[in-house]
Amino acid sequence: MKRIAVLTSGGDAPGMNAAIRAVVRKGVYHGLEVIGVYRGYHGLIHGDLRPLSLGSVGDIIHRGGTMLYTARSEEFKTEEGQAKAVKMLEKHGVEGLIVIGGDGSFRGAMKLTQMGIPAVGVPGTIDNDIPGTDFTIGFDTAINTVIQAIDKIRDTATSHERTYVVEVMGRDAGDIALWAGLADGAESILIPEAPYDLDEVVERLRRGNKRGKKHSIILVAEGVASGVKVGEEIRRRTGWETRVTVLGHIQRGGSPTAFDRVLASRMGAAAVDLILDGEGNQMVAIQKNEIRGIPFEEAFKQKHRPDLSMYQLAGILAI
Ligand code: ADP
Repeated sequence: MKRIAVLTSGGDAPGMNAAIRAVVRKGVYHGLEVIGVYRGYHGLIHGDLRPLSLGSVGDIIHRGGTMLYTARSEEFKTEEGQAKAVKMLEKHGVEGLIVIGGDGSFRGAMKLTQMGIPAVGVPGTIDNDIPGTDFTIGFDTAINTVIQAIDKIRDTATSHERTYVVEVMGRDAGDIALWAGLADGAESILIPEAPYDLDEVVERLRRGNKRGKKHSIILVAEGVASGVKVGEEIRRRTGWETRVTVLGHIQRGGSPTAFDRVLASRMGAAAVDLILDGEGNQMVAIQKNEIRGIPFEEAFKQKHRPDLSMYQLAGILAI
């Protein structure tokens, strides 16, 4: 194998740059030429490919976002789009592709492998919602962003003796809400994977209030309910002043944490090894701190579940 390519696709995540850097540097270390595909599968179909030198990935390890940009492509979901992508890779002499993204992007990578271009996935998403891996690149940075924001909200919540509802990202996965909630001592955490009862949330608030607690934080994953609605309902039921903060896209940005930079470096390098070793069709995973490749099919067979013992613990500690 002489030439491989790398792209970032779907939602961006802090640490993607560190992963790109690792792919390029490890590839060059093994004597490969590494091509950067700009704007994900959209750029692949439309020929937005440029060689990446060692120097081109300098000074990016600490930057959020992705220097290759990212995109979504409806065209790539069609057979014609995929055929165009394969043609483009063949035209550029690319023999293997590394896709940094989420599970949608990996389904595309699986198709490309089936069509003759071995492709390997590197899990990059703040949601930590990819089955088969304990962590995804960007998750640690996102939860650190959330807890920094909540620490600030807590200061003003304490000063004004208010209840705050904070809505965080996570359409189908509650990991951000769960980890940030546990890390920040939230009174209640609402995640899609566990049934919730607003009566119980209010009851918990009342109990805290009786003990003299004048401020509370309730963390809501966006997939469960709108933070605004939860805030209105709490206000209606308690009559207390309740404020709502929707953290939104700040959770996607920022300089990656040490954990994410290390994870991205290990995973990016492992992706090059997997491409060199075999047939592609695998995703890099971290399981019990060991980096390994697992077939896409194996990952897709499973369903991501957050650690619900942490959910129970958060409930106990916020008693
Ligand atoms: P993520 O990778 O973050 O989950 P998306 O689900 O939006 O993000 O997927 C990113 C891109 O991957 C899509 O725009 C599309 O081009 C491609 N893709 C998603 N699902 C499939 C699929 N089932 N088959 C082929 N390509 C897909």
